[in-house]
Amino acid sequence: MRSIILPIAEDLHIHLRDGELLKFVTPLVKAGGAGRVLVMPNLKPYIENTEQALNYKQQLQLAEPDLEYLMTLYLNPNLTVTEIKKAAENGIIGIKSYPRGVTTNSENGLENYEIYYPIFAEMEKQNLVLNIHGEMPSNEAQNICIMNAEEHFLPNLERIHHNFPKLRIVLEHITSKAAVELIKKLGSTVAATITAHHLELTVDDWAGQNHNYCKPVAKYPVDRQALREVIKQGNSKFFLGSDSAPHLKSLKENACACAGVFSSSHLMAYLAEIFDKLNCLEYLENFSSRFGQDFYQLKPLNKYIKLINESNQIPSSFKVKSLSDDLIPFWAGKNINWKVEV
Ligand SMILES: [Zn+2]
Repeated sequence: MRSIILPIAEDLHIHLRDGELLKFVTPLVKAGGAGRVLVMPNLKPYIENTEQALNYKQQLQLAEPDLEYLMTLYLNPNLTVTEIKKAAENGIIGIKSYPRGVTTNSENGLENYEIYYPIFAEMEKQNLVLNIHGEMPSNEAQNICIMNAEEHFLPNLERIHHNFPKLRIVLEHITSKAAVELIKKLGSTVAATITAHHLELTVDDWAGQNHNYCKPVAKYPVDRQALREVIKQGNSKFFLGSDSAPHLKSLKENACACAGVFSSSHLMAYLAEIFDKLNCLEYLENFSSRFGQDFYQLKPLNKYIKLINESNQIPSSFKVKSLSDDLIPFWAGKNINWKVEV
């Protein structure tokens, strides 16, 4: 039986929600093979200041003590330079930007970045990371829709990088060939996360299939090919951020489905399956456990997981009793050839 031992994964983009859903999904992260996670701040209300982030972290620690949480704040006009300093002093790692109206709970996101330049300057000084959800809002006059929203966003990334060359920036959950090409071209302070599901899906897989529907949406085969190729090149600017984003079944199997794929419960099994299929398993360790750690300047966790080449059926659903609903994982019911032993 083939097996591989890897350092425990760094999932540098995850949604852990709040309330009962938080209590349900957070303990499943470990089972998926991740030991440290970068937690997104898009709760209702948003995590906008250090105090809220530290409170949130406490709730997460209660739900699962054996996981390391890296916290972020939501980029918003109320953020001050003083708050950025306070955030850095209290171990907050990043500030997350959502352009207007592009993802769950992000209707208040802003697209004009210049108002944030004093904040970015302080972040650069404090060595905080800017995490960007890089999609333009749909716009009929400019022919912008979900299929090209990421590509149209890219000049904003270039501009911020040009003005703040030392500011570390992560373009999150990239989905397009254009994004891959730009990240490769920009300086070493700019990197990108890639999800497991975007290495697998194209538009054909989510149109009419709500459980594969997420934002940014999976794009054309040529885009998926670009993501796969950059993985196979072992480029250290591209690393794991699952963007695991659980929504209850009733909100997914709905005429107006919520965007988000839930992948954290089996994350490393999915990735082993995908990398194996692409004949590049040897690149998985750097992608899932090292490149992101280096970019974020984190100390190694000195924990390991075992990936076993053995038949593994993904559950068709998880029962969330406290909410009288279900949670449907990515590849629900599918038989794959890898499992994780933590
Ligand atoms: Zn996300």
